[in-house]
Amino acid sequence: MKYIKNIDLQNKIVLLRVDINVPLQNGKISDATRIERIRPTLDHIISKGGKPVLLAHFGRPKGKVVAEMSLAPVATSMSDIVGHKVLFSETSIGQTAQKAVSNLNAGEILVLENTRFHAGEEQNDIELAKEWAKLGDIYCNDAFSAAHRAHASTESIAKLMPSCVGLSMEMELNALEKALSSPERPVIAIVGGAKISSKLDLLSNLIEKTDHIVIGGGMANTFLAANGHSVGKSLCEHDLLDTARAILAKAKSSNCDIYLPTDVVVAREFKAGAESEVCDASSCPDDAMILDAGPKSVAEINALFENSKTLVWNGPLGAFEIPPFDTATNACAQFAAKLTISDKLISIAGGGDTVSALNASHSADSFTYISTAGGAFLEWMEGKTLPGVAALD
Ligand code: AMP
Repeated sequence: MKYIKNIDLQNKIVLLRVDINVPLQNGKISDATRIERIRPTLDHIISKGGKPVLLAHFGRPKGKVVAEMSLAPVATSMSDIVGHKVLFSETSIGQTAQKAVSNLNAGEILVLENTRFHAGEEQNDIELAKEWAKLGDIYCNDAFSAAHRAHASTESIAKLMPSCVGLSMEMELNALEKALSSPERPVIAIVGGAKISSKLDLLSNLIEKTDHIVIGGGMANTFLAANGHSVGKSLCEHDLLDTARAILAKAKSSNCDIYLPTDVVVAREFKAGAESEVCDASSCPDDAMILDAGPKSVAEINALFENSKTLVWNGPLGAFEIPPFDTATNACAQFAAKLTISDKLISIAGGGDTVSALNASHSADSFTYISTAGGAFLEWMEGKTLPGVAALD
């Protein structure tokens, strides 16, 4: 793979695939995290004499021009965040786009209109990719979060011109490499969240790659039920008990220890501040539901962290949006952060809810790496090849 830092960019137009699918409120960017992440690549291209021309999707217009999904307001608000003048082209192909590219001055950035306004984007259409390729000299992908999709702007285009990995994508790939491909052992994974049905591939891959897996959240209830425990009114996939047993058996034969909560926090209502109590994981009352891991489980999970070198985390340990059921997630996240700060643990976390949960626990900044890549992070954790990364190889 080629990396942008090793490429001569002088007088080159760099077609940079980015993820600027940011939330807007009243036409203004309300969370600029994704734009902050690409800033180093933009600075690098400009400082090396190149001109960045941004290819990006925004929302799901499904191949049609949808005015509300124009990238124009993002381009307008981006300038202050990236510290460079940002221009916008109303189309991403054809004469308008070509003119906008040729009018671009050194130090400026051009944002092309939403790639998904063309049906060919999601169809991975090579003809559309050729239109984009005409606009630049080098293709650089800095959108790891879009790399799980084989689209014209993530895959086809890379076959048509010199291609490379951007700085933000490089950082993400390095972090993921450290987590599962060549990690410092022992490796512990936390897999939490609502249901096991959405995480079967994930568990299957992690069993082969990690030494311990902590199962938390609603998912743990299905495993507790599979082990013959009553889970009362808890969220539980009763039709997947055999699947849960098969996962436990696979883990045993792969020498991966699966850890389930030994005590749990239960409540009769699923609402903030609901009265709750701690009970043994094997004795959830019939009229109650499990909403968090208990204090003994937290201590046990933290002890596992202390004996591990690498942590990979996806999914909360409880219904973290509703206090006090965020307690276990917060306590374990804070302890992982503490170990990370004192260089005892490499901690990598990702997935939408996980990022929110770790942000809420004020520990995210201390983790070694937090992936905001959602689907791409999960598919990578599932051991799948990401077309947008493979295309750069
Ligand atoms: P996921 O999207 O699969 O990562 O699941 C995250 C969701 O699982 C969050 O909305 C949590 O509130 C929810 N969750 C976690 N633990 C529980 C639980 N014990 N009971 C119900 N929902 C839970």
